[in-house]
Amino acid sequence: MEEDYIPISTLNDFIFCPYSIYLHNVYMETDEGLYHATPQTRGKIAHETIDNKKASNRVDDLQALPIISEEYGLMGKIDIYKGKEHKLIERKYQLKNIYQGQIYQLWAQYLCMKEMGYDVKEIAFYVISTNKMIPIDLPNHIQLSEFQRFLDEYRKYDPSSPLKANINKCLHCIYCSICDKMEEENVYQ
Ligand code: SF4
Repeated sequence: MEEDYIPISTLNDFIFCPYSIYLHNVYMETDEGLYHATPQTRGKIAHETIDNKKASNRVDDLQALPIISEEYGLMGKIDIYKGKEHKLIERKYQLKNIYQGQIYQLWAQYLCMKEMGYDVKEIAFYVISTNKMIPIDLPNHIQLSEFQRFLDEYRKYDPSSPLKANINKCLHCIYCSICDKMEEENVYQ
């Protein structure tokens, strides 16, 4: 039986504009849509987890580890996990503002790692251009409920539902030349 998992990398874009995820899935022919994870895929990740877990117990750093959460229905990859410090880090070249969606992506990685048995104690962004580490709080119970509601909203999203296009967003959107929601809403008038 296949199950759908939300790709962690799309959470921030979904907040930017949910329709952009739909357009991406339709036009880009990539595997970035909901992951259809077969039992084999899930088994492979679980197997890699066991192998990597041994590595993590040796306090090695892990990079690009595939991750999954059955509880939250999420899949993706981490950037770096520092085994010695129990610290999960997402590197960004630049980070002028930290958007809620970026925090959600880090929380999602944290929740997957926890479910997979890693003892993650800290999460942070590391900004390469400024060589700065920006610690992020681990989610509390209230934030986790909010995150769960957000994931429900993501799953229930109907691309045919009306969307009030925001010109400031649309002008920065890579799909603006093909997006029918822009025409619908006459954002240029
Ligand atoms: S062009 Fe605007 S409405 Fe269309 S996907 Fe992009 S941000 Fe969303």
